Amino acid sequence: MSAAGSAAGERLHVVSLPLRTRFRGITVREVALVEHDGGWGEWSPFVEYDAATSAPWLACAREAAAGAWPAPVRDAVPVNVTVPACDPARATQIVAAGGCSTAKVKVAERGQTLADDLARVEAVRAALDALGPCGRVRVDANGAWDVDEAVRAIALLDRAAGGLEYVEQPVASVEDLARVRRRVDVPVAADESIRRAADPYRVRDLEAADVAVLKVQPLGGVAACLRIAEDIGLPVVVSSAVESSVGIAAGVALAAALPELPYACGLATVQMLAADVLVDPMLPVDGLLRVPASGSLVPDRSLLARNAAAPDRVAWWAERLAAVEDL
Ligand SMILES: [Mg+2]
Repeated sequence: MSAAGSAAGERLHVVSLPLRTRFRGITVREVALVEHDGGWGEWSPFVEYDAATSAPWLACAREAAAGAWPAPVRDAVPVNVTVPACDPARATQIVAAGGCSTAKVKVAERGQTLADDLARVEAVRAALDALGPCGRVRVDANGAWDVDEAVRAIALLDRAAGGLEYVEQPVASVEDLARVRRRVDVPVAADESIRRAADPYRVRDLEAADVAVLKVQPLGGVAACLRIAEDIGLPVVVSSAVESSVGIAAGVALAAALPELPYACGLATVQMLAADVLVDPMLPVDGLLRVPASGSLVPDRSLLARNAAAPDRVAWWAERLAAVEDL
């Protein structure tokens, strides 16, 4: 089921995609696809986000639907497997099935302990070693630690991982990120400190991070992220917001256009979904995502129909779109 968009000729298709494992507290990812003049883009701000927060996500979708991405400089993008805050046995399965030599492990989940994190990271290291000699482990705490907790946890996790590639957003504030960075040897990556900040460049100004994690939807699209990447002066890891393959393609377009790409990107998240909208989904082969040809990202009508959201949810998204337009 679809609804008219607010721009002339625009259609909004809302799908409800089940997740294989609970993530961010959700089990179903609701996604709106914007269709305009034969082009498609994804608009999928999380449902709790307000209109102002959702506006840059819409700019990203419309940039995609307009086919306005910059030219790629590479034809494939290395990606990491993402391991949620699950038990070690499940973590082992996910890494073994992922086919990627880099794993990002969620840590510091509410209700869990550092011992849970250490067991998960040890299992991930062992699973990577079983795949080959060059496995890398990074962890993401989503800002859950305070400075002292972070310093202690990073040292122990670094040992459990046999060396961490980096720690992503160990603490919430940019100031604390800078404090942690001065006390640990493991490189620090900033995620929420960039995409949720009024000023994404405070991370640079306070020398708070070694790596910038960029997500195309919250930051307003591929061109906007390319500008941030240039101005922030840090190596970039492009990451997803658990989108359908249409949304992932926008992240791949950014990763493909960056002048340098020293790290694997967090764009292999379609495997977290039990359904998708493309016949040929954006799934990695041997740890690489191919860069799609422009115009190739047309959702399959039968997949749109099979995964269509309920009429009341379509109406909710149409209202949400109108609220963003009203800003
Ligand atoms: Mg993150």
